[in-house]
Amino acid sequence: LPEVAVSGPSLLNVDDARAIVLCQARPLPPAPAALGAAAAGLVLAEDVAADADSPPYDKALMDGYAVRCADLPDGRAVLRVLEEIPAGRTPTRPVTPGAASRIMTGAPVPEGADAVVMVERTRAQDDGTVAVEDRPPRPGQNVLPRGSEMRSGEVVLRAGTLLRPVELGLLATMGRTQVRTFPRPRVAVLSTGDEVVEAGQSPGPGQIHNSNGPMLTALAGRAGAHARYLGIARDRLDELRARVAEGLAADVLVLSGGVSAGKLDLVPGVLREAAVAAHFHKVAMKPGKPVFFGTRDEPGRRVAVFGLPGNPVSSLVCFELFVRPALRLLAGHPEPVPPPLSATLAEDFRHASDRPTYHPARLETTPAGWRVRPVPWLGSADLRSLTRADCLLVLRPGDHAYRAGEVMAVMRLE
Ligand code: AMP
Ligand code: MG
Repeated sequence: LPEVAVSGPSLLNVDDARAIVLCQARPLPPAPAALGAAAAGLVLAEDVAADADSPPYDKALMDGYAVRCADLPDGRAVLRVLEEIPAGRTPTRPVTPGAASRIMTGAPVPEGADAVVMVERTRAQDDGTVAVEDRPPRPGQNVLPRGSEMRSGEVVLRAGTLLRPVELGLLATMGRTQVRTFPRPRVAVLSTGDEVVEAGQSPGPGQIHNSNGPMLTALAGRAGAHARYLGIARDRLDELRARVAEGLAADVLVLSGGVSAGKLDLVPGVLREAAVAAHFHKVAMKPGKPVFFGTRDEPGRRVAVFGLPGNPVSSLVCFELFVRPALRLLAGHPEPVPPPLSATLAEDFRHASDRPTYHPARLETTPAGWRVRPVPWLGSADLRSLTRADCLLVLRPGDHAYRAGEVMAVMRLE
């Protein structure tokens, strides 16, 4: 891989650019994390072994009677009731021939018993017996044997596992209150541009509201990062320098605007001054061509820096293609690039561009699988069209008349 691919004669392609990001980014050092609901979405950084059998005893799966199958060769018998075993109690008496114990779901099955007959198939009688009328029980019926879910010492979750609510439940089953995980990346988001003002302020002549600040901060947050919004830097060296210095305290700095070829596109220069090594600047893609990526090394840590073009759709597409995989890699995901989807094109579609294009589109479900329909789109400044989209349709460079039914690559959006 090229270490630096700063705007050569032919543009870097998207796959190579993404490979550079993934090869330059480093997973964050693992640390212990408390296992509350806030741990959902983290990636495990250690193998976790069970410290005890689960279930810890042969467990009744039904309310009913713990019986000996030998007493019920044809499913019918009148049995002496020894005791009642609610969940949370332990049996005090073994079940002997001709006897049974009333048992509740979750309670330990007493010694001697080898099956549980559901209460619906029984009738308790005043003389302290129970009449069973069922099919002949099988040994083990309605009983979950000790250690059948997991055995003490068995590795149940491997390093690299994404902690979903299910995994959090399982860790709690094992009594764990903390595990080593990859931390959430800290992301700083900085908008740039003299013409950009925050929502809530009225734009003066030639000014527009800041779409990218809230959008990129939300994208990073939803991608599992701790996102911090740093506001808008004017297109002035002193102001940019100060904000960039602030942003470099994070694990990832995401800037929008100021990376194109205009006179006031000061971002790459300011980053260079701040000891950010450029790995690429400009990628063959539409929208998003001016995108910049670099890293800055300090003892013990590396900051990844993304300069996204200011047009909102360019920022969004570059976030999906480069920033999201980087965040996943930092957070320890074994598969940093979300797998693309295939979908058949819903209608004929003509498209011409010298660069691969990421076109807003909508997914539809059909009995035959995913179908994708491009949405009308005015280009990189048209964020509104994206509200009608839930994916990006990947189009090849060149002039192509795609046919309805053709299989296309698609990237899902949140
Ligand atoms: P730039 O990448 O700075 O050349 O900006 C490209 C275009 O995106 C210009 O039309 C900018 O006004 C617009 N733009 C830049 N930053 C933002 C922002 N935060 N929100 C909305 N539009 C922006
Ligand atoms: Mg600008």
